[in-house]
Amino acid sequence: MSITREGRTCSFCGVPGGPGTDVPLIGGLGAQICVGCLDEFHALVHDEERAAAARRTMPWETMSDAEVLATLPLILASAEQNLHFAHEWVDLLRERKVSWAEIGRALGVSRQAAWERFARKSGDNGATA
Ligand SMILES: [Zn+2]
Repeated sequence: MSITREGRTCSFCGVPGGPGTDVPLIGGLGAQICVGCLDEFHALVHDEERAAAARRTMPWETMSDAEVLATLPLILASAEQNLHFAHEWVDLLRERKVSWAEIGRALGVSRQAAWERFARKSGDNGATA
């Protein structure tokens, strides 16, 4: 399994993007941001009045129940995208023959806990430790 950029969505607005779409995504640590959100956040942080207003009111405070409900699946999709990315990185480490013990140490968990959390997708039985 290799790390892919296809099938990603913006972690901020949920729009699908990346290769094969008209929506470029910029990613880091599993989170992805589309150009529209990047432009919006860039404008926000460079406009002191808007930035101050954004700090005073959390977005959910002005959202209707329907808007909160519509956002909930986007939050879960973003979380699942990040978890999938973590699996890809663990798969990369395993392809490089990094041991489950080392992966566990990096995550602050036991070798067994790391294996139980991440081995299921790749079919890795931990035979190489
Ligand atoms: Zn976006």
